[in-house]
Amino acid sequence: MQDAQIGQFFIRVGLDVPLPGLFDYRSAQNVEVGQRVIVPFGRRQLVGLVVAVGEHPAVPIEQIRDVVMVLDDLPPLPDSWLRMMRFAAGYYQRPLGEVMMPAFPPPLRKAAAYTGKRAAGGPVARLARRKRNTVGTTPAAFHSADSASSPELNADQRAAVDKILALQGHGVILLRGVTGSGKTEVYLHAAREVLSQGKQVLFLVPEINLTPQLESALRQRFSAGCSTVELAVLHSGLSDGERLEAWLSAFSGKARVLLGTRMAVTVPMPELGMIIVDEEHDASYKQQDGLRYSARDLAVWRGHDEGVPVVLGSATPSLESWNHALQGRYHEVVLNRRARDVALPVVRLVDTRRLRLEQGFSPQILEAMNERLQQGEQVLVFINRRGYAPVLSCTSCGWVSQCSRCTAYTVLHRGRTGAPRLQCHHCGGYVQVPRACPECGDQDLKPMGRGTQRIEEFLADRFPEARIARIDADSTRLKGSAERLFAQVHSGEVDILVGTQMVAKGHDFANLGLVAVLNADSMLFAHDFRAPERLFAQLMQVAGRAGRHKEGGVVMLQTDYPDQPVYRALQKHDYPGFARYALDERRSLGLPPFAYQALLMAEGRELVQAIEFLHTARNLPELNPAAYTTREHVMLYDPVPLRVVRVANVERAQLLVESPSRPALQRFLAQWSADLFALGREGRVRYSLEVDPFEI
Ligand code: ADP
Ligand code: ZN
Ligand code: ZN
Repeated sequence: MQDAQIGQFFIRVGLDVPLPGLFDYRSAQNVEVGQRVIVPFGRRQLVGLVVAVGEHPAVPIEQIRDVVMVLDDLPPLPDSWLRMMRFAAGYYQRPLGEVMMPAFPPPLRKAAAYTGKRAAGGPVARLARRKRNTVGTTPAAFHSADSASSPELNADQRAAVDKILALQGHGVILLRGVTGSGKTEVYLHAAREVLSQGKQVLFLVPEINLTPQLESALRQRFSAGCSTVELAVLHSGLSDGERLEAWLSAFSGKARVLLGTRMAVTVPMPELGMIIVDEEHDASYKQQDGLRYSARDLAVWRGHDEGVPVVLGSATPSLESWNHALQGRYHEVVLNRRARDVALPVVRLVDTRRLRLEQGFSPQILEAMNERLQQGEQVLVFINRRGYAPVLSCTSCGWVSQCSRCTAYTVLHRGRTGAPRLQCHHCGGYVQVPRACPECGDQDLKPMGRGTQRIEEFLADRFPEARIARIDADSTRLKGSAERLFAQVHSGEVDILVGTQMVAKGHDFANLGLVAVLNADSMLFAHDFRAPERLFAQLMQVAGRAGRHKEGGVVMLQTDYPDQPVYRALQKHDYPGFARYALDERRSLGLPPFAYQALLMAEGRELVQAIEFLHTARNLPELNPAAYTTREHVMLYDPVPLRVVRVANVERAQLLVESPSRPALQRFLAQWSADLFALGREGRVRYSLEVDPFEI
């Protein structure tokens, strides 16, 4: 009886294991494509996803093992979702299972959640039971009667919304508008229309914790008459249970809006009608380990595949997106004015070449700060360096503090309690500050340069009356502390805010009259070709913080290079001017978006191992030329050590691959990644291959 049944179904399964390909199993029970199963793998049991049924097994039948359990607590994942996963796996050169399985919330991909002693029913059933016991407290559901709180759109906004809604099926709108031009309002109106047609909206943001205003605006404002619109929120700060709930809610169609960070782009939504990507240029959309995907790019692909419009919004679009708009592939819509009656901030460059600075401050900025504080206004001091000082040094022999495990200086930090210490920003390690120089024994050790803590200390001394707050990764480590600090700034309990890029995003400070930018130059000559683009975006964003001020705020930027195009364009709030200049440069150098890149990174105990691996990798196409049909269109550079070559005692090197043709590069990478896999098995070098690398 049993024998007659077993062997009926051969299925092919994707598993989250670092092996290419898919795995064949046999199921006694009927299984559909898109269902999850628990299967034996080695001595473990794993949750996998069925991607094919009834295919002839690729291995001898007697080697095929039986499925342990077919999971039917979810409807099968739809074809559209599998297409997206296949695309991502192919494009980013990863095994399909390694792409699909991590896209599920953890409880749905842990075998123990179903087979363990206390598993009773699995996570979906347990969640439903828990929800039944707490009826009436669905915090995500919200009524809204007050469409009154949404302002009348101005003409530019109206035109933008109309243009979005006029798109039939897929199309990409690049919505460009300076901070405060009312992009959020455009998103909300367009989304409301889509919701009223009975469809779902996927709303991506770079970091949820820095944009609490958006979440509350969504909560307050979505309604079609007196119905409720359910909102689910998804980001990495959630517990497994919360993540499961949000994911299920969007997948079941219960949630009509899914607001989330990059991970939300892969959530299946049965009635998807629009995708919005806010701050589309933001680096947080790029995942930096595992599947190194760009959520923005995946969103555009998904919109195209599912035939729905995609709105990309930014004050400073990525040059990739801007170039698409220039080429007519995206529709550009511009919001030129600020929505409220506030002027754009005036940007002044302070030429520091012949100035004597006091703890990094020019006399002009100190005087301007003094004036603003006298008038009861707030001041933001922006410096992109946390800690007290970037390095400690010996005045007599020149010793500088360095990490023993990394090729990097250690940063002097002052703890809130306890002694100061030297901390490595690369490996996270730290040591106590030595009493004397380890080289010569001299006791005269001095901090060199300055970070947020030292600036804070100096300002407290310089402006004793002022209430000062510091917002950086250190001061906001504890849960809720960032919110608390921001709330203090908003409520006027703070006069001077010292902050890193954390303060640049999201928050509007109504009483902020002056923004002082201290060390912009340090980003100007970074090695990465995207550095000017990033600097411009960041400065525009920081400048935007001042502009909520009724009189129009002032931005003062200290620089030794006042003629740099980045600063000139910033002064005029001229994104197109900057983008034109930057694109010309990229074109002449053959850089993205005029070329496509991939980066092979190798890590070993010793640098020679990593470099040798890369050299071998570079020669792979020569060993098998017939398999590399597009080799002549692909350029392989020489392997080079990373600038910070050693981190946590691992030495790192990289090899850049480039092509003017995306398909040629893709075809090359498909063969290369297979050959790399074989090569990687032989040695002691770890490697990763990144397509469209963001930082080089
Ligand atoms: P952005 O997202 O482009 O930075 P916001 O959407 O946050 O800009 O809008 C900036 C401010 O202007 C917000 O306080 C918003 O409520 C307000 N606002 C937006 N559109 C309008 C409008 N049409 N009329 C009046 N105020 C508006
Ligand atoms: Zn010394
Ligand atoms: Zn270190």
